[in-house]
Amino acid sequence: MEVRVSDVKKWAGREEAFQLVEPWPQEARERVDFPLTDPAVIDVLVRNTGGGTLIVDVSGTVEADAVCSRCAEPFHIVLPFEATEEFRDEPGPDDESLDYWRFTGDKIQLDKMVSDAAGVSFPIALLCRPDCRGLCPTCGTNLNESDCDCAPATDDRWAALAQLKIPGDSEDRDEEVGREKHGRTKA
Ligand SMILES: [Zn+2]
Ligand SMILES: [Zn+2]
Repeated sequence: MEVRVSDVKKWAGREEAFQLVEPWPQEARERVDFPLTDPAVIDVLVRNTGGGTLIVDVSGTVEADAVCSRCAEPFHIVLPFEATEEFRDEPGPDDESLDYWRFTGDKIQLDKMVSDAAGVSFPIALLCRPDCRGLCPTCGTNLNESDCDCAPATDDRWAALAQLKIPGDSEDRDEEVGREKHGRTKA
């Protein structure tokens, strides 16, 4: 995954846009725990700010066959990502201590930049939907699909917490309790 910068690197102030449609780099696949959906469609903008410096913007969406961390059901996730990095036309190895990246010649290799940006777009907890009700901790019923008879224990706990009326902190909890009481918000 690379862009040819032979034109844009000639003059300060010049910029060039690219669109890459390619399979995800191996590095991206290794960073994410779920199978990524090909192809990656990446918009790239390269700007020459002078002195051998190119500013590279990448943006796109990453899609994967994920598993919900609350109810364990498979679902398809689509996450937007974007990143900006500075590349300087100078020889030398990759050096993590520099706040820019190096390139030489007429191409900039984007595997690492794109893989990092796509990888960090994945949240730690992936939910099939924001209000996923998860599995009953007692009987394992998927509470998105049906209710079970052991649910009230959870309701009591939320109700007790709601009584505390912590200033400025009650709104979310009230909403949560309301949702529990009124059952599913979505069929
Ligand atoms: Zn879920
Ligand atoms: Zn249950």
